[in-house]
Amino acid sequence: MKGDKRVVIVICDSLRGDLITPADTPFLVELSTRGTRFAAHKSVFPSTTRASSASIATGCLPARHGLYGNTQALDEGEGLICRNVGAPDFRDRMRRATGRTLRVPTLAERLRWHNEDAIVCSNVSPGAAYFQDPDGYGTIYHSAGSYGPGLKQIDDPASAALKKGIAGDQAMTDRFCADIVEGRAPALALMWLSEPDYTGHHSPLGSPQHREAIRAADRCVRQVFETVRRLDPSGDDILFLTGSDHGMETVAEAIDITGLLVAAGIKEAPDSHDVVVAPQGTSATIYFSEAARGRAPDTAAFLKRENWAGRVAAGAELAQIGLPTDTALQVAVAMATDDRVNPHGVAGFAPIVANSDDNESKIGFGQHGGLGKNEQNPFLIAEGGGFAPRRETQATSLIDIAPTVLRHLRMDHDDMDGVALLLE
Ligand SMILES: [Zn+2]
Repeated sequence: MKGDKRVVIVICDSLRGDLITPADTPFLVELSTRGTRFAAHKSVFPSTTRASSASIATGCLPARHGLYGNTQALDEGEGLICRNVGAPDFRDRMRRATGRTLRVPTLAERLRWHNEDAIVCSNVSPGAAYFQDPDGYGTIYHSAGSYGPGLKQIDDPASAALKKGIAGDQAMTDRFCADIVEGRAPALALMWLSEPDYTGHHSPLGSPQHREAIRAADRCVRQVFETVRRLDPSGDDILFLTGSDHGMETVAEAIDITGLLVAAGIKEAPDSHDVVVAPQGTSATIYFSEAARGRAPDTAAFLKRENWAGRVAAGAELAQIGLPTDTALQVAVAMATDDRVNPHGVAGFAPIVANSDDNESKIGFGQHGGLGKNEQNPFLIAEGGGFAPRRETQATSLIDIAPTVLRHLRMDHDDMDGVALLLE
């Protein structure tokens, strides 16, 4: 017999915890008083959407799930090449290079063990969407292609028509509420909004455009919540979670780490396969071929001397920031952040790592990927499912979401990096 317990999750990509205000997010402010607001909630490293998506789906840090950012170097037989995790074909490349996708089960797979469904509607990059369930245990609706169990492609014109931004998010929300939350009623329904991330990357944080995107995301969360509580007014059966994957800092300048490593004699040439920089917005992960592995300590020492570099981790230190120590990824650098305030009153600046695949200027707009206090300030609110109205100040993280989902569904959840959120 199927259980009556369900979980509904809405992710507002990039919404910084300190930008939740009565003026821009009246609903999230109200929800914070109805449920539990996790006030010391943190992102993973790199604080990119794709690594975050895998951490939310698995309850594990990148070190364990195996997806190390928005870009990742793979050796598919021609040496290390930096690949875009956002591309629709990345999971096939990852399978070819490593024999698998994620190294630990997702919520969708765990629910399938119990013959329960997980349905995801996502309006962010294909990579971030598909890493909710890369091997097809549940269903993912996305504009680049929708897939059901067994990775069987679904013809879904409504998803195919979605565009990132306010209008696309609203269309996805209408569909999510009517067809998924109310119609199909799976054990887990998760919706991932493109806003305010999409606008935050293309306008200054706190600008009228960015605030409009934040208000639109707030309305989408309200609409889903009202659908949930119409179906379950007591809140006993349906646990409602809403949060973001990371925040943002304002981009100060772009640093060409690849060029600097070539100039320093550490890397042979801009497109050589010996030392490969994978840009992650306000951080970078750096990969070394077997033959070049000995250059990792010099690379870390070089980075530590640069004034734009913040935390630098190499070798065994990578474990301290949730990255593996036994792969070609041997050095990570988070850019140095500062507390300057932008013209719209939003604090926090950081340089970004130049990305040769993306030459659009990002100066003055939002970005994330590192360890800065604002990009590491996502929000999380839990309502229903036994969560009392209160403000929790104990530290929580993206990896605590999956075990919380499984606890509510009365499934085992003790083999993850995260732990279920405290009910009181
Ligand atoms: Zn994101």
